[in-house]
Amino acid sequence: MRFKPKPFTEPVPFKCLYCLDCCRGRHVYLTLKDIERIARKGHDPQDFVTFSVEGNQIRFVLAVREWDLGCVFHDPETGKCKIHDANPIICRIYPFMVSRKPLGVEGEKPFEYKGQTLWLYYDESCPGINAEEPETAIDPEEIAELGLEFEREFERTDMEGFVELIERLEITETK
Ligand code: SF4
Ligand code: SF4
Repeated sequence: MRFKPKPFTEPVPFKCLYCLDCCRGRHVYLTLKDIERIARKGHDPQDFVTFSVEGNQIRFVLAVREWDLGCVFHDPETGKCKIHDANPIICRIYPFMVSRKPLGVEGEKPFEYKGQTLWLYYDESCPGINAEEPETAIDPEEIAELGLEFEREFERTDMEGFVELIERLEITETK
């Protein structure tokens, strides 16, 4: 699924239709907080964390199933996410996106939030955007907040922190 960005500057009606499109073939980055939250729900990091070498950095990425590249937490029977209450922050942001630079899309404009200049978009290819009976309208402020949280957490996510986290999880398990 290719992200087709549209400027997101005012509330947009949304309802997830569980079409699976955004849970298959995607590169979902994980932060240490994401990994900890999911692990504390009883999932072994060995089963859902993979590594990606990017330049001189190791990034943590959500694992996918071999047979269809669907996320390991996607339930093929219901179409729903098995860890909805604990899912990664990237999944909570989608079908929206937060950028530090303009993407060159018609109608885009900067969004000022907490002293930061951001550019916000939504994915026009998500069928839940402007759905017929929307569950809610998503505010740009809500997404900007998640975007800043992701940026902060992503920045401090590294192998040293990952090793410490695994040790902490093992200590809690053996108590
Ligand atoms: S967020 Fe959009 S693309 Fe993803 S499952 Fe829901 S409706 Fe489909
Ligand atoms: S964690 Fe849930 S929402 Fe995120 S990609 Fe996997 S199934 Fe989809």
